[in-house]
Amino acid sequence: MIITIDGAAGTGKTTVGILTANRLNFSFLDTGKIYRAFTLKLIKDSIQLNEEEIIKNLNKTEIHYSYDNQKEFIFLDKIDVSNEILSKEVEKSVSLISKIPEVRNKMTALQRSIVNNKNFVVAGRDIGTVVLPEAEVKIFLIASLEERAKRRLAERKDQTYLDIIESMKNRDNIDSTRKIAPLKAPKNSLIIDTEGLNIIEVSNKIIKETDNEYSI
Ligand code: C5P
Repeated sequence: MIITIDGAAGTGKTTVGILTANRLNFSFLDTGKIYRAFTLKLIKDSIQLNEEEIIKNLNKTEIHYSYDNQKEFIFLDKIDVSNEILSKEVEKSVSLISKIPEVRNKMTALQRSIVNNKNFVVAGRDIGTVVLPEAEVKIFLIASLEERAKRRLAERKDQTYLDIIESMKNRDNIDSTRKIAPLKAPKNSLIIDTEGLNIIEVSNKIIKETDNEYSI
């Protein structure tokens, strides 16, 4: 069974996704980390961020994602970059890089190969709509910008509340207006407003959806 969890930054996809995966004994994939790793590569190698240069680098980049013992690891060219990908610099460029069709094609193929018919919770922006449209359970998380920024603040030591608000607004705008695979609720998805709910309450709603699926 595949459970997709899509939504904007800070809606709780990763926290809720990992909790739900653990409760169900599923694996977990956070696809945002893959886009972040590729962005980090371009920044590290001081690549000019124009389409041509970005596309050229697609085939020169090795990204590995693993989920072990309830923890995510992301490797870029064999080096663990799990912390580096959370930086402000990566967040500034990631959405512009992620809207390039060639980048999306490559990352979508990688995501599908990781999931490969196993029991997975997969979090992202276009998972239920484009990457895994056949998933049995599709979730779309929402919350206000202020609430999302407050949650992120606790996880980011290099950014102020205002930095986070600006960065989220910018990414929300680019991610939801891009031509290919924009951020939107998949058809037949359960939309959960996470405002005022704790992660266990959100996870319970997702697991209830899973039960409905099993009982059909
Ligand atoms: O989820 P996270 O904030 O780590 O995602 C970082 C960025 O990666 C998003 O703002 C978006 O531009 C891109 N992304 C995407 N499609 C996904 C997951 C993330 O375009 N499925």
